[in-house]
This record gives sequence, structure tokens and C-alpha cells, in this order.
Amino acid sequence: MTLPTEIKEFGHRFAKEYRAIRKAIEKYDRIVVYRHIKPDFDAMGTQMGLYTFLKDNFPAKDIHFVGDNHVTFTPRLFPETERLNDEWIAKGPFLAIVVDVGDRERIADPRFEKAEAVVKFDHHPFKGTEIAKYPVLFEEAAAASEIVADFCLSWSGRWMSKEAAHYFYIGIVGDSGRFMYSSTSTHTFAVAMELLREGIDLPRLYRSMYVKNIDDLKSTAYVLSHFRVSEHGVAYYTLDAKTQEELKITPERGKENVNVFSNIDGIGIWCSITEDPNPKDYCWRISIRSKMLDIAPIAFKWGGGGHPQASGAKIKDLSELDAFIGDLDALLKEHPEAK
Ligand code: AMP
Repeated sequence: MTLPTEIKEFGHRFAKEYRAIRKAIEKYDRIVVYRHIKPDFDAMGTQMGLYTFLKDNFPAKDIHFVGDNHVTFTPRLFPETERLNDEWIAKGPFLAIVVDVGDRERIADPRFEKAEAVVKFDHHPFKGTEIAKYPVLFEEAAAASEIVADFCLSWSGRWMSKEAAHYFYIGIVGDSGRFMYSSTSTHTFAVAMELLREGIDLPRLYRSMYVKNIDDLKSTAYVLSHFRVSEHGVAYYTLDAKTQEELKITPERGKENVNVFSNIDGIGIWCSITEDPNPKDYCWRISIRSKMLDIAPIAFKWGGGGHPQASGAKIKDLSELDAFIGDLDALLKEHPEAK
């Protein structure tokens, strides 16, 4: 089967890296696929898509995936992430494949440092020290799944199962905002088309990604009656731990209401601010989204990062909230056309 031009061109751009990564995969009998902490659809979809693809094509190899579980995605969308014990790690050399993350600190299992070789696929703007010998970094990609699915689809002689395609498709849909964000390109659609050919059940896939229950409706009602809007058009809401408990939601679920503010005239940037009471890393987690403006530099300033229109950050406590919202508000003041 001939692949679309977009996939062929992408393969030429990363020919050297693809060749080296394929060689490494063929060489190592022990492989671990890593993703970022606090996984989203794309982190999980990319990891599970690649893991499934590798299992399908290299059944004799010892392959694992690791990281913290997403409480609402598993087991609804993805299998429980296994606990890989230290004995396995110590047993011999292995290859670490890191997906959807470039910063050391954000990789969900620090034991990737013990791998003999590290390769990486990512689309996050990256400022730290490179972790991989052969990084495939393409910031313009709508999703990490778009890149890794491209890598798998164009690997001649290997095959993509319906299950692997299903996972990659979840990643693409998740990070492209259902093909709505400006990062969506002809390459995104070319990869999605090839994945669809494998027979994905789209209604089932969308239902499993976006299913809600009555409690979710109540949390949306709470958000809609408690949000605030800054002078120049930043909409935001806070969910403290007590309210999350009353609403029966986790911080992850709490942030999922953030997109009720997309496509609202007069709102250019919107955020959820949810208290994470975990004593090991107590903070208020912020999800930031924007209609047009690049909010990643502000996310970076506030201890986070991400993409121009979807980023994450955190603050220590609510005393920092006004200053944080102030930064976003100042950006919209400069660009009133962006709301
Ligand atoms: P979220 O609001 O958590 O859904 O995150 C939106 C996007 O920003 C995702 O692509 C995340 O991977 C990215 N992101 C969130 N937090 C951080 C962070 N602390 N550093 C870098 N990227 C982040």
C-alpha cells in the first residue's frame, strides 16, 4: 500500500533518526516505553499505541510500559499501568523509548536513566538537556501520537493492528482538540486516515473518551456558576480540595471542565485551577487554554510548559492567583483581537 505524500515527506525529514531508532528496537530484547507524569489522552495513547505495535511485531521481546495511572482513564480507556520491579531493571541492558515528553523531571519513571540507550519522540517545546541520542522532536505536530504513528506506519515490513491504531487515534483526537486546534495539519489528517483504514470503531472511541455521568454534570454546573472573568477576557475557576470531595471529582476530572469556555465571544484565554492535596507535591494545578494567543511562555514562567494553545502550570497557593491571572490578562490587553 502506498502511503500519503505527507507521511513520506515526514519520513524523509527524520530519516536518520527513524533508521537509528528502528535499529535500536531490533537490537534490544528488553524495551520499556515511558511517558510523562499526569498523563493525558496523548501521553497514554502514544505509549499504549507504541507498546501494542512493538508487542505485535516483536512477540519474542520483553516489552513494558510504565508510569502513574490516570484515575479516570484506566481501566475505561487504557489498561492499568504495570509496576515494573527493580529486579527487572537490574537484570540487564534495555532500551528506553520516551514519548510525549522531553524534560527529565516530567518522565513518569526516573529509572529510564538506567537504560543502556534512550530514544525519544516528542512535540513539546523543549529547553532542557537532551536525554536521547536520537530525538524525534517536531513541535508543530498536533500530537505525539501523530509522530509515533507515522514512525510505525512507515516502517516497511511491519504491521499496525486495529488495537494499536485505536490507541494512536485517541492520542491524536485528544491533543488536537478533535482536529480543531491550529496544530492540526494535512500530516495529522494523513496519519489519522491511515489509522482509520485499520477499522477503528469511531463512535465507540469517541464515546469512551468523552463519556460523562451525572456527577460530572454537577461539577460543570458548579463551574458555570462560580467562574470569574478578568478585565480583558481571562475566564477561570478554582476547585479546592473540599469542593472536589463534595463534587466527587479528582483534580484530573476537575480540569476537564476547562473547555466549557472555548468558543465564547469575549473570552480569549481560559483556565482551571485545581488544588492537588497530595502532600508530596502540594500545589494548585492550572490548565490553560487559549483561542489564538501563545500562552506557553506564561505557563513556563509559572513552573509549567506546553503548547501555544494548551499549556499547564502550577502555583503554590492562592495568594499567587491574582499575579498569574494578571499575566494572562496583560497578554489579552495587548491583543484585544484575540478574544
Ligand atoms: P494539561 O492542562 O495538564 O492538559 O496540559 C496541557 C498541555 O501542557 C499538555 O500537552 C501537557 O503535556 C503540557 N504541560 C502541562 N504541564 C506541563 C509542565 N509542567 N511542563 C511542560 N508541559 C506541561
